[in-house]
Amino acid sequence: MGNDIINENEINSLINKSTTDKEYIKSILDKSLDLKGLELNEVAILLNINDDELLEMLFENALKIKEQIYGKRLVLFAPLYISNYCSNNCLYCGFRADNDEIHRITLTIDEIKEETKSILEQGHKRVLMLMGENHKNCTFDYFIEAILAVYSVKDSKGNSIRRINLEIAPLNDEEFKRLSQIPIGTYTVFQETYHLETYKKVHPSGKKSDYYWRLSCMDRALSNGLHDVGIGALFGLYDYRFEVLALIAHSNHLDKTYGIGPHTISIPRIKPAKNAPLSQNVPYAVNDKNFKKLIAILRSAVPYTGMILSTREPAELRNELFQLGISQISAGSRTNPGGYKQGLSPTDEDSQFHLNDCRSSGEVIHDVIKSGFIPSFCTSCYRLGRVGGDFMEQAKPGLIKLFCQPNALITLKEYLIDYADQETKKIGEKLIAEELTKFENEALKRKISEILNKIENGERDIYI
Ligand code: SF4
Repeated sequence: MGNDIINENEINSLINKSTTDKEYIKSILDKSLDLKGLELNEVAILLNINDDELLEMLFENALKIKEQIYGKRLVLFAPLYISNYCSNNCLYCGFRADNDEIHRITLTIDEIKEETKSILEQGHKRVLMLMGENHKNCTFDYFIEAILAVYSVKDSKGNSIRRINLEIAPLNDEEFKRLSQIPIGTYTVFQETYHLETYKKVHPSGKKSDYYWRLSCMDRALSNGLHDVGIGALFGLYDYRFEVLALIAHSNHLDKTYGIGPHTISIPRIKPAKNAPLSQNVPYAVNDKNFKKLIAILRSAVPYTGMILSTREPAELRNELFQLGISQISAGSRTNPGGYKQGLSPTDEDSQFHLNDCRSSGEVIHDVIKSGFIPSFCTSCYRLGRVGGDFMEQAKPGLIKLFCQPNALITLKEYLIDYADQETKKIGEKLIAEELTKFENEALKRKISEILNKIENGERDIYI
């Protein structure tokens, strides 16, 4: 199975592929605008360009592609860590089993509800739930109970979490079948590194040391009733060019086998974590220039996917990266269980890793509006069953923006009324009014206006 997904020999044969033929490179960049993706050999060439003019073209195209598929919305979410117990020993992670200086905790169901309330009071409607792997203090049964508990919470405005995405360790067939019976959004697992030898080195013990169990996890998920899956690599463990080619190969495998490519691709870079040796001494650190390049290339090669950027990156850089095809972002995050309710700092030393965007959710949303993107709390697709292959049918040709853009305006309106400060309200209302005039379809424009009026009059949770 592993070789069907990632062919290391093929990737190694492509990794240094380059050309001085600028016209050929431009033809690859032009091709990406057709929204049909790119071949691995074309991606390899883009990975090896250094020419500023070509890089600029790549960056401009990435934004165009993102806007053709998803419009101007940036979907927001908050991570919710419920336990930091873990039986693995990943050398880059603060939760690793051998770190005996971290304060370990598994939140009770009541504590999870409190934490959810704190997240809701920031205006979030989506969470990404996480916990460590294969530990008696954080079992699969506990996780299922926790998901249902999160959905049950209402905040002071009567709002609740509308979509829960998950990032938990690879499951077996039976567990995926159980998971498919409860309402969840995207199930995500990062391969961390697709390079087998590196993978073995950085995952010395625990269930996670099995590369193929992890690599085949999305096949098990999609074969056992899940609809939307997310993949990712932790940049810094191995050559970023290898990881990008492998992410695209993995995407192609899922798309070809199930007709469902990755719903999301995440692109975290390693950040410092307590007692995590590789996080202090990153073996293949990716600089900002290459980071921008790889984001734009992934957007060009897998145009339909949601690309996720976390608060690991500093605010200023995040604002730049939004221009390169990012479509989902976390905001106001804490990466330790109980971190929201306790008001812990994003750089608290017991975090899974240190965060660099320390702005509150409100500040992020304010800045997103100012930069011309639409902060979105939309959860409409999974609520309406627009998932899996049905979602892909809309996303691949760029039709999904006909839902994304209206729902972004509707959910932003809710946010502005329920949670925003005066200044954000002012610029947010202006953005909504401007964006509304851009809809060419008069019937749709009328429909959105009607919904916005209903929101103004107190109705909530309306979506198309
Ligand atoms: S319409 Fe669908 S794809 Fe677009 S933001 Fe909403 S849930 Fe996401």
